[in-house]
Amino acid sequence: MYDKSVLSLERGGLKLFFVDDETLQNVAALFGEEAVRVVEILEKVDEITDIQIVDQTEIRLNTVRKTLYRLYDHSLVGLKRFRDQETGWFVFHWRLQPDQLEGFIFNQKCRVLEKLETRLEYEKSHEFYTCQTPGCKRLPFEEAFEFLFKCPACNKPMVHVNNCHIIEVITRKINQIKKELGE
Ligand SMILES: [Zn+2]
Repeated sequence: MYDKSVLSLERGGLKLFFVDDETLQNVAALFGEEAVRVVEILEKVDEITDIQIVDQTEIRLNTVRKTLYRLYDHSLVGLKRFRDQETGWFVFHWRLQPDQLEGFIFNQKCRVLEKLETRLEYEKSHEFYTCQTPGCKRLPFEEAFEFLFKCPACNKPMVHVNNCHIIEVITRKINQIKKELGE
């Protein structure tokens, strides 16, 4: 279902990747803006070293390395290791693994969806009470009853709170993710 969003072209043995904006937004949400800039570099090249990424982005080497390792940790980028003939040091060549990227984001969305559905069920099956003091917690009926409808934090009386808006927001988010997942 993600076939359309990631295309890879073979050009005389050179593979170029195209990651769409939606995927990049997801990368930003999960790994931060620097990861987006790294992915944007990676999608234009077959393989690249961390130093070359620094040259093209002016992101600090340490940040580039941390970002690459985080992406690598989730198999979103792959690496090959070479020994530099002159210095004897290892050189890493990084490449994007766009199929993994799509799969990873898909799984993340499934996980979020699951959490939202659990939360929706909780919201629908409980009545909530609040003291209306900023910073104090909303309590479900069962707990508020135990405190005789007096806030355990600020001691003010608690009143019933309508959670229709929360239910609406969660439902909207669930529908949006389902649509993105192609359900
Ligand atoms: Zn309170």
